[in-house]
Amino acid sequence: METVLQTDVVVLGGGSAGVAAAVAAARKGLQVMLIERNSYLGGKATTAEVGTICGLYHFSKNEKSEYIVKGFTKEFAEELRVQSNTSPLFSPEGVHYLPYQVEAFKEICLNLINEHKIGIYFNAVLEHVTVEDQQLKSVHIIAAGNPVTINLHALIDCSGDSVISQAANLPLIKSENYQAAAQVFTMQGVAEENEFKLGMIMMKALRSAIDNNILGDFYDRVYVVQGSLKNNCVNLKIGIPLAVTYAPGNLQELRTVALGFVENLSQFLIKQVDAFKNASLVHIAPEIGIRTGQRSTGKYLLTEEDVLSCKKFDNAIANASWPVEIWEQNRRVNIHYFTLDDYYQVPAGCLHSNTIGNLFFAGRNISATDGAIASARVMGICLQTGYAAGCMAAASALDLPIGDTIRQIQNEQL
Ligand SMILES: Cc1cc2nc3c(=O)[nH]c(=O)nc-3n(C[C@H](O)[C@H](O)[C@H](O)COP(=O)(O)OP(=O)(O)OC[C@H]3O[C@@H](n4cnc5c(N)ncnc54)[C@H](O)[C@@H]3O)c2cc1C
Repeated sequence: METVLQTDVVVLGGGSAGVAAAVAAARKGLQVMLIERNSYLGGKATTAEVGTICGLYHFSKNEKSEYIVKGFTKEFAEELRVQSNTSPLFSPEGVHYLPYQVEAFKEICLNLINEHKIGIYFNAVLEHVTVEDQQLKSVHIIAAGNPVTINLHALIDCSGDSVISQAANLPLIKSENYQAAAQVFTMQGVAEENEFKLGMIMMKALRSAIDNNILGDFYDRVYVVQGSLKNNCVNLKIGIPLAVTYAPGNLQELRTVALGFVENLSQFLIKQVDAFKNASLVHIAPEIGIRTGQRSTGKYLLTEEDVLSCKKFDNAIANASWPVEIWEQNRRVNIHYFTLDDYYQVPAGCLHSNTIGNLFFAGRNISATDGAIASARVMGICLQTGYAAGCMAAASALDLPIGDTIRQIQNEQL
């Protein structure tokens, strides 16, 4: 039998953006329901085990990593830093990032949801939505096999793939070429303590094997996940040369190919590279990492030019500090930096549907072009857009003026 519920705000997707959005709406005193298809929280941070949070700190050659944001995102990052027992790292180019432990990420998200008395459906997926007079009225989900209808006042799509816009037949921002997917896996028993050196050793051996036709030429797209080498264990990330298309079966095919690569690569390292002589493959992240998906159409479309010119907005809701990072299937990463010691902002319009009054977006499915999302998808920015979308959805549910809410977000976060 179908269950029918009423709530103020529904959040679809329990990744970094979804958790931030749910907490923000709950902090405004509203009843919030979170829907997540997995049995745990964190999204890409915990399913694909991406390993570092980017976009939290100023883009600067200063060795001290200084937050570019305050409020919820900083609170979350500080808790994660302490629970993961790590500190920020930085590159010679000036990007700073925070390594974290996957279990700590999951636990912090769950604690936040429980503390804020947010209702949650795990193992739940969206079936369809009801829209009337350009307002979302309800979502219909299947939760643990049972149909549930949730009537709502406002909704935030944090699915990473604009699942609500798809269900409501709204215009989507699609890419001709989605960024390359990657698979993270863990090897233990590694006899090298310096991460940089390990990366160099690995790359030299892989290049030589590729040049001698022992390995395919894509096997050089392997990276050490920064900050992960601890107690002789290291997380490695391999880029998958197969196109991400979203066609039926594509995800499964990507995962199958990824598992084959992980097997071949780990065997090669164990047999051919001294530092891995006594190592073994101990873990593969539960999901392949899909970097970009379909975005929703908002009142404003963030562009690569906005990012690279460090554009600021009167209605800004996030300070964004990460370069445009493009991972193509047939090459290693391609990075476009903006001016050192500067940043761009994300305006509120990127989070608000241009057709449905009570529909908001956050995280990697905000209204942005391919180039802009190649920067704005990192988690420091997803946490900020999540929190802001939660505040904006709460204002919509309470019929409060959006301008006042944006000023509050700016005071709290920026
Ligand atoms: C290989 C890789 C490496 C990366 N490296 C970094 C990095 O080093 N640092 C960094 O900051 N960022 C990195 N990123 C980017 C970052 O991890 C993601 O962009 C970010 O985590 C997205 O957060 P989100 O909350 O928007 O979406 P997601 O994390 O994708 O969360 C979406 C959630 O929605 C749920 N969901 C989706 N559809 C449905 C549905 N129909 N019903 C119910 N639930 C649904 C999903 O299960 C998921 O939990 C990387 C990404 C990848 C793939």
